[in-house]
Amino acid sequence: MIIVMKANSSQSDAEELLTLIKGRGLEPLYMPGEERTVLGALGDERVLAELHLENHPLVDEVKPILSPYKKVSREIHPEDTNIKVATSRFSAENFVVIAGPCAVENKEQMEVAAKGLKSAGANLLRGGLFKPRTSPYSFQGLGLDGLDCFTSAASANDMGTVTEVTDVDEVAKLHDKVSMLQIGARNMQNYRLLEAVGKTDTPVLLKRGMSAKVDELLLAAEYIFDNGNEQVILCERGIRTFETATRNTLDLNAVAYMKQRSHLPVVVDPSHGTGIRDLVIPMAKAAVAAGADGLIVEVHPEPTKATSDAHQQLTIKQFEDLMRQIEPFVKASGRKLG
Ligand code: PEP
Ligand code: MN
Repeated sequence: MIIVMKANSSQSDAEELLTLIKGRGLEPLYMPGEERTVLGALGDERVLAELHLENHPLVDEVKPILSPYKKVSREIHPEDTNIKVATSRFSAENFVVIAGPCAVENKEQMEVAAKGLKSAGANLLRGGLFKPRTSPYSFQGLGLDGLDCFTSAASANDMGTVTEVTDVDEVAKLHDKVSMLQIGARNMQNYRLLEAVGKTDTPVLLKRGMSAKVDELLLAAEYIFDNGNEQVILCERGIRTFETATRNTLDLNAVAYMKQRSHLPVVVDPSHGTGIRDLVIPMAKAAVAAGADGLIVEVHPEPTKATSDAHQQLTIKQFEDLMRQIEPFVKASGRKLG
């Protein structure tokens, strides 16, 4: 952090502040200038924030040096982080495809989906047990009653599993039953939930809130790190803008931005990002080109009969087409599927 002192500050004024900085275990720097004295404080800026130096009578201005998130930032970890989920690996060399129905509905639906998705090349099976919805009066999922048909269909096809947790109690019940826990858009800033997944050693798919800034997503990821879990995968799933032609606006700027600012893998959700079936494949290709490390796509054996998000789920045949169409983009980005 850089601290610019008020004009005409004396050396003893500076020493007063340097003592405060040192007292919090940070490394103080003294940089006297012609007109202004500038001080530096190296270390955890969150500790420094508690001193409220911006309100100190001797201080003119306080400027952070580093981003507010540290552990997830490339500044302190320049290499890409690799995260293994079941038999897949999110890394600079791989491109991982997560696919499956929006909601787990019944045994047959999950068996047909898992079989078709596996043979089309999907790596991980998604399926919502707990469904936070745009309206609370819509179908909210089978809950734990759907767990067995979800995990059985996945293991019969040798696939890892991804499901959303919406409540701290669900984390305890699901963290050792699935390969990855999803934090949905509506819970990105549910700090008790972030703490709970942070205390597990299960990888976390952290979705961007629909009105959240990218830096807020990175801060939420940092909070999961601070609670002990460093296996976090970021997900861009579209944000609410003035545009109503599509359900959300898929922010591919955020993908390129997050890949530059953070070492964590970034996954794109073109299903919720557009809300329109016919736009999923084009935006999936665009996501690969923008530098994403993977996709999460909603696919249903019979989308028109789906209990949720019927208009955006692909058929299995359309998913096969998606896999064919993204392949040259994946290859061009120097990666392989899986
Ligand atoms: C989902 O993945 O089914 C979901 C509800 O997504 P989001 O939290 O991004 O709306
Ligand atoms: Mn959905």
